[in-house]
Amino acid sequence: MTTAESSCCVCADALTPTSFATCGVCGHEFHLNQRSDIEGKDCGLVWINEEHLGLDFACNPCIEPPPVADSLNDVMDLDEAAAALGARSADIQAAADAGQLRHRKTGGGVYLFERGDIEAFASEKLE
Ligand SMILES: [Zn+2]
Ligand SMILES: [Zn+2]
Repeated sequence: MTTAESSCCVCADALTPTSFATCGVCGHEFHLNQRSDIEGKDCGLVWINEEHLGLDFACNPCIEPPPVADSLNDVMDLDEAAAALGARSADIQAAADAGQLRHRKTGGGVYLFERGDIEAFASEKLE
């Protein structure tokens, strides 16, 4: 039972007495449908903790932390590089063609950059 109007920490919609749980990670309440006979949405998960055999609850943001940058995420195309630098794609392409920016051009003519190079380029440009 909730006494005060509370809202889901994930989607910000109001919680109902049959559809909320408290996240064991951040301590906020979120939607968790506890009744299989009632339509409800789940903004998190519940599972059995094998250590203490109790129920653990966690909201989606706590279950899915922001993805850690992996090598593929560190590869940007021209538009992404331009967006990251706040520049125009044409300018980035010109800098790449001029050898000012390390890049790889695919067989299809797509420019690929590594995030580190873009960041280095950005800090050089600012100085
Ligand atoms: Zn929700
Ligand atoms: Zn949480």
